[in-house]
Parts: sequence; C-alpha cells; structure tokens
Amino acid sequence: MSIYKMGSSKRIALVAHDNKKTELIEWAVYNKAVLSMHRLFATGTTGKLLEKALGIPITKFMSGPLGGDQQIGARIAERKIDVLIFFWDPMEAQPHDPDIKALLRLGVVWNIPFACDRSTADFLLTSPLMHQDYEVIQPDYSLYLKRPPR
Ligand code: PGA
Repeated sequence: MSIYKMGSSKRIALVAHDNKKTELIEWAVYNKAVLSMHRLFATGTTGKLLEKALGIPITKFMSGPLGGDQQIGARIAERKIDVLIFFWDPMEAQPHDPDIKALLRLGVVWNIPFACDRSTADFLLTSPLMHQDYEVIQPDYSLYLKRPPR
C-alpha cells in the first residue's frame, strides 16, 4: 500500500460539456469563496468561461475534444491534479466519448475525489477534507507491474 499526500490547497480540475456549462458556471460562482482557496485547472472553453465569471486565474488546457480531457487524465496519473469536477452530459453522445471514459477511469485508478453532478460537487466542496492535508491510499498495482510477460 502506498500513500499520496494531498496538501490543504487542492489542485482542482473543472470540465463541463456544452449543455452543462451554464450549470457549472452557476455552481462555481456560488462557490467562488471556497474555490478561490485552491488552484484551478480546466479544459479550454470551460476555463475561459470560468475565468470570466469568477475573475480568478485558471490554468487552461486544450479544449476537451482536442485533447484537454486527456491532458487532465495524464496529470491525474502524475499526481498533479487532486480533485476533478466533471459535469458531463448524460443526454448527448460526444465526439470524444473515448477520452471521457478514459478520464473517468483514471479518476478511479488513482482514487481521487471526483464529482460528476452538482449535488456530489456540493458534498465534495463542503467536506472538511478540502481544507486539510489528506492521505490518499493508493491502490496497490505492484502485482500488476510485476506480472510475468505472456
Ligand atoms: P471544453 O471541453 O471545456 O473545451 O468545452 C469540455 C469537454 O468536452 O471535455
């Protein structure tokens, strides 16, 4: 078992599909005071809208369908993103469906807290753990890594 320590200031990635952007912006504006205590990252278009609405700097990756989801996924694997808020659209197929699946998968692979809807995001953001160090118990992949070649 290995432990990864998140600091009290979290690195939060925010992503919203087009039909969910208004909801995410509304949620973020409501929670601006808490969000501004952390470091924010986002896919391109979501990030631009959030920066405008919140007036706080956000590190922006590429637009989701152009690789932004994968950039966030890579940072989760590198332990450079602590929390993911991902308002994905359950009512519409996306051109980058495989990237979305990959991002959600990596969130579980690395056991990070992530929210895919507004009420879960509320629960997550109001957790006292958002403001203190937290030890993430990393799943043990040592047997997988030591597997014999087939
Ligand atoms: P966007 O990407 O913020 O650039 O619109 C979101 C997504 O679809 O992953």
